[in-house]
Amino acid sequence: MRLSSGLGVWNLYFLVKFVLYSRGDISFDLFANLAFFAFLAISFQHVWLSRIKHAMSVVVGVALLYHDSWLPPISRLTKQAGNVQDFSVGYFFEITARVVSLDMIFALFALVVFYWFTVKWLRYTSISIIGFMYAFWLGGPATSDEITTQVASNNQITQKQVPVLVSDTAKQKTPDQQLQDFYQQQNLLQSQFPDVFNGQPFDVVVLNICSLATADLNAIGVEPRNLFADFDILFSQFNSATSYSGPAAIRLLRASCGQTSQEQLFKPVEDQCQLFTNLAELGYKTSVALNHDGHFDDFIGLIRQYGGVSVPKLDFSQFSAAQYGFDGKPIYSDADILTNWLKKQGSSEQPRALYYNTISLHDGNQLAGRERMNSFESYPLRQQRLFNDIDKFITELKAQGRNVMLVVVPEHGAALQGDKLQFSGLREIPSPSIVSVPTAVKFIGPDIKHDGLNVVDETMSYFSLSELINNTMKLDLFTGSVPINRVLDNLPTSAKVAENEDTVMMYIKGQPYIQLDGGEWTKYPTN
Ligand SMILES: [Zn+2]
Repeated sequence: MRLSSGLGVWNLYFLVKFVLYSRGDISFDLFANLAFFAFLAISFQHVWLSRIKHAMSVVVGVALLYHDSWLPPISRLTKQAGNVQDFSVGYFFEITARVVSLDMIFALFALVVFYWFTVKWLRYTSISIIGFMYAFWLGGPATSDEITTQVASNNQITQKQVPVLVSDTAKQKTPDQQLQDFYQQQNLLQSQFPDVFNGQPFDVVVLNICSLATADLNAIGVEPRNLFADFDILFSQFNSATSYSGPAAIRLLRASCGQTSQEQLFKPVEDQCQLFTNLAELGYKTSVALNHDGHFDDFIGLIRQYGGVSVPKLDFSQFSAAQYGFDGKPIYSDADILTNWLKKQGSSEQPRALYYNTISLHDGNQLAGRERMNSFESYPLRQQRLFNDIDKFITELKAQGRNVMLVVVPEHGAALQGDKLQFSGLREIPSPSIVSVPTAVKFIGPDIKHDGLNVVDETMSYFSLSELINNTMKLDLFTGSVPINRVLDNLPTSAKVAENEDTVMMYIKGQPYIQLDGGEWTKYPTN
C-alpha cells in the first residue's frame, strides 16, 4: 500500500461536483467527499487489491453523488414506479426529458473532452485540492440547521381577531411533539352549523381544481389578485395540506373538522365532520359532478367512501372530449359539464350544494384536436380556458337570480417549475410551493353588495372554508345588510402542515422541513 501520485480520472468526478455545487445543483458533504478522496489516493501493488479498490470506488462514487444530490431517498422513487405504467408513451418521454436535459449532457461532454486535452499539462489532483478548499469556503461556518436545537414558534403574522392555533408552549419541543400538538389542537375543531337556517337561502358551489398552485400561476405570469379580481375573498396562502388528488378531495369534503393526519383520512369520521352531510342536514340538495371518469387512483371510490358524498353514474355520451389525460383518457369541457349540471337542477327553491372536480390543468394533458404540446406550452392555454369556462358559469348562475356562494379551491399545485428535490410534475413530497394554493370565494345574489376583493394572507385551510360557510349563514349575508368582510371575522388560521403517505412537511421557525418515512426532519431547500 502506498500513496498514488494522483487521482487520475477521478479528478474529473470531483471537478464536475465542484461545478454543480457552486451552481447550487447539488449539496456537498465535505467530510464524506474528503474521505473518499483520501481513499482514492491510496494505491495497492497487488493487482487484485487494486481491482477491488476500483470496483468499490465506482460504487461509493455513485452513492456519494446520489447522497449529495437533492433527490429523495431511493426508496421514495421506487414507490412511484407503479404509477408509471398508466402513463401514455408521449407523457413518458415528456417526463424523461425533464430529468435529463440536453444542456447538461453537452456541458458534461465538453468537460470530458477538455480534461483529455489538458490532462498532460495540468496537475488535476492539485486542482481538486483547491476545489476542496473552495467547497469548504462555500459551505461557510457549520450550518445551524440541526433540527434538534430548533425552537418552534408561530411565525404567522396574525391579525388581532384571529386566534393562533399553535401556542407558545410548543417552544422547546421536538418536531414530532409539535406535530402531535398540532393534531391535538386541530382535533378540537368542529364547525357548529345552526340547527335550522331560516335566513336567505343560498346555494353552495365548490369547484375543486386539480393542479393549480400560486407557484404555477407565478410561473405563467398570472397574478392571483388579478385572476380573482371579480371575486369577494382570496385566501392567498391556502394550505391544501397534501399534494395528491384523492386525499385533497377527502380533506375538503371533511372541512367541518380540523386537520387530521393522512392516516386518519382513511378511517371513518363523525358525520359532523363532513361538509356535504352538514349541508344536507340543513336541507340542501347535494350533488357531485366531474369532468373525468374518476378512475385514476380510484378517485370516485375515495370520495364516496371517505368524503361522505354519493356520486351519480357518470354519463359523458353527450359530450366530446376537450382534452386527453396523461393516460390517454378523455377529459371534458368544464363549461359543458357545469352548464349541464345547472340545466338539470330545474326550478326547485331547495338550496343546492355542488362538489365539482376538474382535472383540466393536470400535468401531461393534451388539448383535443391540437398537436402534441408539452405541459409548459399548454398550461397557460388550459388555465385560460378553465377560467373562461368559470366566468361563463358565473354569468349563467347570475342569470338565474339565485343566491350562490361560489368557492374555487385547488386540490394542490401542478409543480410546473419543479425544484431541487423534485423535478417538474413530481408531487411525491408536499413541498410549500405545491400546497400553497389560491382559494377564492364569490357571493352571487341580487342583494349582495360587493366591496372589492378581500385578500387574506394568513395561512388558511379547509376548516376555515367550513367556518366561512357557517359565518355566511350566521350573518345572513345574502340579505345584503352586513358588509361582506364581516364573514372573515374570527376565521381560524392554522400552521402550514402538509402530508402524503409517509411524508410530512411542516414549518419550523418559518422554514419548511420534511420528514420521510418517519425518519429525521430535514430542511426543504427553498431556492
Ligand atoms: Zn389533483
